[in-house]
Amino acid sequence: MKVYKFGGASVKDAAGVKNVAKVLASQGYENCLLVVSAIGKTTNALEVAVKHYFEKENYQQTLEDIKRSHIQIANGLFDDKNDIFGEISLFFDEMIFFLRQNKSPNYNFVYDQVVSCGEMISSKILSEYLISQGFENTWLDARDFIKTDHNYREGAVDWELTEKNIASLGKQKNYVTQGFIGSEENNFTVTLGREGSDYSAAIFAYCLDAEHMTIWKDVPGVMTGDPRKFQDVSLLSNISYEEAIEMAYYGASVIHPKTLQPLKQKNIPFFVKSFLEPEKPGTQVGISPKNEQTESYILKDGQALLRIATRDFSFIAEEHLSLIFSALAKFKIKISLMQNTAISLALCVEDKYGNILALNDELSKNFNTEIVKNVSLFTVRNADMKHLTKFYKDKDVLLEQISMRTLQMVING
Ligand code: ASP
Ligand code: MG
Repeated sequence: MKVYKFGGASVKDAAGVKNVAKVLASQGYENCLLVVSAIGKTTNALEVAVKHYFEKENYQQTLEDIKRSHIQIANGLFDDKNDIFGEISLFFDEMIFFLRQNKSPNYNFVYDQVVSCGEMISSKILSEYLISQGFENTWLDARDFIKTDHNYREGAVDWELTEKNIASLGKQKNYVTQGFIGSEENNFTVTLGREGSDYSAAIFAYCLDAEHMTIWKDVPGVMTGDPRKFQDVSLLSNISYEEAIEMAYYGASVIHPKTLQPLKQKNIPFFVKSFLEPEKPGTQVGISPKNEQTESYILKDGQALLRIATRDFSFIAEEHLSLIFSALAKFKIKISLMQNTAISLALCVEDKYGNILALNDELSKNFNTEIVKNVSLFTVRNADMKHLTKFYKDKDVLLEQISMRTLQMVING
């Protein structure tokens, strides 16, 4: 089977949904499993609705606006007698019903039950539209297949159960399903982390022993740098899984970091291609003698720099580190880079859930701490070591690290 992932930008309007059919026609449509994200910026909008719900503001209005934009897209795809309009309305009615009945104060639990609807609706629209155009497919509820633990908003996959479930799918068919979502043992929805649809596609690809997997993007493939942030970037045609994993880990947003590992495990060739130019080769990730090691640049913003020092000038030792790491895990704060000296530890971290001050309170019980917010992590992969000085120009560098051929610096701003 082939696994294709279409992101939110590829289905942002009726023309985008129609274009998916064109992409499929250009690739040959058989034995495909399609994974689709929520339409356009729906996930962000649903996040706002959840926030309003907890703040006792008018979340119904927010949901009404989201519903209207979906109906508008459906208007551009179906005639007004189509069942899809009733189905879209039902999703929103059920969301409102759920929120009205809900007694759980658990933000992350409620978030997952609501935000996941973006993918449910987009996949229904895409599946129905494709059928109307002669692209037969079976719509699947990904939550019946991808099973996770109870870690709402960042579910960890139960691989054994998930493999068993996905193995039950017939391979001579076409399917449309959702990215980003799975479910826990009581069948409540659990999301896999923002931008997690790539990961969903990789889970399906792994469990189906897919021939290959492609994610369709609005860029030509994986570039040597984000063209919105860097000049003179070029397309990487062939890179290894390791290179792609490193790039994703350092913040190249074109691929979700968790996506590569399942594909690498089974050597499933993986392509990143443009849905605007589907005939172009894009980037191939996999094992190939052509694998490139080109200098590439990654800027990950929205980071914080945390400096932690012992109070008594004792060395930073194992007991300190275990205290610090368990506090980071507790507050779900991720380390992007770390460096230690004898008596201090510097961490460049990503605070996805706004917990950094709580972390700081906890750490300051035992350490002297300092936080610099709004810093960026700049990484140069395969850096040309003879010409490093140019990277320092006009930058306020707070921390730097060079390992192998990777230069990293934490910069202000
Ligand atoms: N819709 C989800 C998000 O925007 C998942 C994804 O797009 O991959 O985070
Ligand atoms: Mg999305």
